[in-house]
Amino acid sequence: MSSSNTESKSKLLVEAIANGTVIDHIAPGQAINIIRMFKFLGKDNQLTVGFNLRSGELGKKDIIKISNVVFSPAQTEQIAVLAPNATINQIEDYKVVDKYKLKLPNETVGVFKCPNSNCITNDEKAAHARFKITKENNEILLKCRYCERVFSREVVLEYNGLGN
Ligand SMILES: [Zn+2]
Repeated sequence: MSSSNTESKSKLLVEAIANGTVIDHIAPGQAINIIRMFKFLGKDNQLTVGFNLRSGELGKKDIIKISNVVFSPAQTEQIAVLAPNATINQIEDYKVVDKYKLKLPNETVGVFKCPNSNCITNDEKAAHARFKITKENNEILLKCRYCERVFSREVVLEYNGLGN
């Protein structure tokens, strides 16, 4: 089988969108968390998701194509916490008009609640915690700026109704 043949077949897996955003190279398992985080399932936007697709770089990847959505810089940071190596492709009229690779932010503000139930940020309405983000031995860690406790990303995601 020729390589162009393979490519056209793999393109068929995910339908093209006219306008919107493609989040590519998402680490396997994180696409569902991104969908939950932005509550995409409750919206009218056309949504195409691929799980565990073959990828040269990571071995496997997830991909999300969502129509008529452009992510703000703040939203892009939220995605980067879940999928630090993902690529954002902004699509207009079936063409990629902007493409950039995410990187893990140093900090996240107002996105996640602190899993420490005694943390002051859990007492105040609308006051979500501010976390410093670090990476150690391939594990992403979030340190609450208020109670100073350190949590693995998985613990924070689970506490916030995300995660598997
Ligand atoms: Zn805290």
